[in-house]
Amino acid sequence: MHAELENAFGLTGRVAVVTGAAGGIGRQAAITFAQAGADVVIADVGEPGLAETAQLVEKEGRRAVVRRTDVSQRAEVDALASTSLDEYGRIDVWANVAGIIRYSPIVDMAESDLRAVLDVNLFGVYWGVAAAGRAMTDGGSIINIASAGGDMPAPTLSGYGMSKAAVMHLTKTAATELGPRGIRVNAIAPGFIETPMVAPYYTDESGREDLDAKARIFETRRAQSPLSATGEPTDISYCMLYLAADASRFVTGQVLRPNGGVFMA
Ligand code: NAP
Repeated sequence: MHAELENAFGLTGRVAVVTGAAGGIGRQAAITFAQAGADVVIADVGEPGLAETAQLVEKEGRRAVVRRTDVSQRAEVDALASTSLDEYGRIDVWANVAGIIRYSPIVDMAESDLRAVLDVNLFGVYWGVAAAGRAMTDGGSIINIASAGGDMPAPTLSGYGMSKAAVMHLTKTAATELGPRGIRVNAIAPGFIETPMVAPYYTDESGREDLDAKARIFETRRAQSPLSATGEPTDISYCMLYLAADASRFVTGQVLRPNGGVFMA
């Protein structure tokens, strides 16, 4: 590849913080950033998964600092930023990936479920944007993971959809506030991606996959896509790499929608 493109799309010498990095999209983002040359700080509530992600990052020849963080707790998110500053002296990229999903009709919604979803998916991203915005002294890129569920209302997903729609709005406001300091803020709203988050659709309580149910769900999802496609974590992490790297220096306040064409804004 031409050196100019390597510079534009690479992250050599950069430091990236990734939340939700114990599995799924967050783990893949940490690996992709490492493959592009970044050292990382990885955070999650799931510590065994974080240790595995750290090993995978190290296999790519980069350094991973692990910090257990509940993103719904502002003080823990601030401590995450401090960890990166203590260990590396900087933060160039901050990816808010941690998220949860709860299903319930509005009329039956348990207050605890609604609050949990908003605490993690909205407040968690808010605290991440705030901490990154304070810590980035030399410009940077903040990437918030929203969802197609923030664009498309669906039964039983009121809390999740609200949280993700709000993340898209927060992204735009933050872009206006932080742009003058050279900090770009963008969101990604993925469609259906095969990760532990969607596994309960086809997995029983003992963790066994129902392969027929899985085939049916993926077939239904593929039928919604003009590409007849469902997504994999790299489909999102490569979008994240673009938004993290200098290639996207003119891009801020945007929502990128890797969703197989299921929804077109
Ligand atoms: P995932 O594998 O479940 O990853 C989410 C990670 O966040 C998990 O490791 C989870 O830990 C962690 N987490 C939960 N609560 C947390 C907290 N309070 N603090 C820190 N970490 C916490 O699911 P994923 O699909 O990769 O999801 C990543 C992001 O993509 C989420 O924001 C999700 O909403 C979004 N997304 C996913 C899809 C999809 O189809 N998969 C589509 C659109 C958007 P536990 O497992 O211990 O809860």
